[in-house]
Amino acid sequence: MTVTQVHRPWAADFDALRRQDPELADVLLGETRRQARGLQLIAAENFNSPAVLAALGSPLANKYAEGYPGKRHHGGCEYVDVAERIACDRATALFGAEHANVQPHSGSAAVLAVYAALLRPGDTVLAMGLPFGGHLTHGSPANFSGRWFSFVPYGVDAETGLIDYEQVWALADKHRPKAIVVGSISYPRHPDYLAFREIADELGAYLVADAAHPIGLVAGGAAPSPVPYADVVCATTHKVLRGPRGGMILCGANLAERVDRAVFPFTQGGAQMHTIAAKAVAFGEAEAPAFTTYAHQVVTNARVLAAALEREGLSVVTGGTDTHLITADPAPLGVDGPTARGRLAAAGMVLDTCALPYGNQRGLRLGTAAVTTQGMEEAEMERIAGFFGAAVRGESTGPEEAAELAGAFPPYPVPEGH
Ligand SMILES: *Cc1c(COP(=O)(O)O)cnc(C)c1O
Repeated sequence: MTVTQVHRPWAADFDALRRQDPELADVLLGETRRQARGLQLIAAENFNSPAVLAALGSPLANKYAEGYPGKRHHGGCEYVDVAERIACDRATALFGAEHANVQPHSGSAAVLAVYAALLRPGDTVLAMGLPFGGHLTHGSPANFSGRWFSFVPYGVDAETGLIDYEQVWALADKHRPKAIVVGSISYPRHPDYLAFREIADELGAYLVADAAHPIGLVAGGAAPSPVPYADVVCATTHKVLRGPRGGMILCGANLAERVDRAVFPFTQGGAQMHTIAAKAVAFGEAEAPAFTTYAHQVVTNARVLAAALEREGLSVVTGGTDTHLITADPAPLGVDGPTARGRLAAAGMVLDTCALPYGNQRGLRLGTAAVTTQGMEEAEMERIAGFFGAAVRGESTGPEEAAELAGAFPPYPVPEGH
């Protein structure tokens, strides 16, 4: 497949770009080809639909729209106001929430705004520790969160890899946090939102769910929803949910005004209206029955892949998964995470290293959201596990097999003549 044979969902505009700026056009084509030719196993990634890409590449990108629908600081907002109202209405309907703010530019921006809405600098917050799968915004010293708030980390049981609720209770009781954060970048199981709610109620603390990863599964009915339990849910729109790169906040009517003010004007300026329109398109897609099928297939695929990786000799943290996410330790094959990632990349499989809940070595984090969008099912997961095991053991012959499998499931339909 040559670079020009890769299907571009944005073909017409792209041809104009290529005439104007061939240097950059080649970069876009190269990246599009890279995405289609390897197996994309990064747990946080997915393939936007052509409809989502169309909204992202639309002239809504030109519009300044500080404020909220009906209360903008700029003129000419009559169409973008409709886009944002549709996005909010679809988000509240999809997740059964009283209020949605769809303006956060990213998942991290959503978390920042939620802290701004609920906390004062110096407040104590209980969150999963970074070595166990906490996100940078959960108290990393390199992030605003660790600098401005006093984070107390909870962990997971070293044997089972599961959240130790006794430990969460004990830490909450000792440190009396103002907020408790539930959510992680690599925890493959469903958190017990009710248990967290009970702990928060006991202290009078806010419960913040950072559902950046599972929110797409929630949309498809394939994971329990944090919405009935958490005071505020922050999320991304670009992971399993398959929308544009961005963030979102869901909350009760009681916190709506505080959350909205914390997003704009406290932490952000003008909303990105093209992204908000694309979020609306993605929420519309997620409302359709096909998305429910998709979300359940994502989980089925992850379960099958996790079991097959164990048969290949990797150690899967918690022994499996409830979600799209698999955390695996390649140590039983005599390889550390970074070495395994390099070997997997050479064999056409793209994924991340991540912290493991025990020891100092890094493991591997992968997910099935993108390959499932491509239409892969259980049989393909078995094949991927075979490529995977061979690559980690250093027995792979190159990226051809992975590329051939990926090529049989193009992320975008290839039109005639390309
Ligand atoms: C992905 C993620 C984020 C941040 O999302 P960005 O859009 O990269 O800022 C925050 N929290 C958790 C738990 C995540 O998984």
